[in-house]
Amino acid sequence: MIIDTHAHYDDSQFDGELNSLFEELKQNGVEKIITCATDFLNAENVLNLCEKYDFLYAAVGIYPHHTNKCLFDEQKLESLASHEKAVAIGEIGLDYYYDDSPKNVQLESVEKQLLLANKLNLPVTFHDRDAHEDTLKLLKKYEPKGIVHCFSGSLEMAREIVKIGMYLGIGGALTFKNAKVLPKVVKEIPLENLALETDAPYMSPVPKRGKRNRSDYIKYIAEKIAEIKEISTDEVYKVTTENAEKIFNF
Ligand SMILES: [Zn+2]
Repeated sequence: MIIDTHAHYDDSQFDGELNSLFEELKQNGVEKIITCATDFLNAENVLNLCEKYDFLYAAVGIYPHHTNKCLFDEQKLESLASHEKAVAIGEIGLDYYYDDSPKNVQLESVEKQLLLANKLNLPVTFHDRDAHEDTLKLLKKYEPKGIVHCFSGSLEMAREIVKIGMYLGIGGALTFKNAKVLPKVVKEIPLENLALETDAPYMSPVPKRGKRNRSDYIKYIAEKIAEIKEISTDEVYKVTTENAEKIFNF
């Protein structure tokens, strides 16, 4: 049984193929998927998809790059989050790699979204790219529930996040040849603090790197974790599935 805690099935790369793709995913053991919105506009599409497909659940929120064009609106986000298939606030976070939205705009938006997530008692799915210091500062300040998606920080940072009670999202990056720190993080941090994710259609794991990602490719990530931790892949599925059910309460 596989839970993909982070994907984007509203992406146009999947247009016209969801029915057949989702049948295959189910046959390959995928039981639940969190598909993440990136602003208010696609949140509607994401929620519509979740109504149509029973195994899809939604995260609704404003992605760091979209904070400039999609201004935070508490009422609007609260109403999106009240949908019965909405189980998280996301994808929110900080991204200083690209500067599509200025830092101060990203920070203001993400703080408000963290506050709202806590108010609604919902977990977050948090994106951190080249913004480790500010990410850790915010997470320590608000202590949200949820996942630091596509974790790319140091082992020290991983320990701090686990201390807060959050989970590390582990995806395709773990399988990349140039992955140096992440395998160490996965080795040291208990399985009880990890969540499996794809970020489909992006971030395909080896040996599918460069292709369109999909939730059943999570097996390559689970196999890699099993290899690093010297445990069985079944154990990886078992514990990470329990983790995901705990995080999203479904
Ligand atoms: Zn994402």
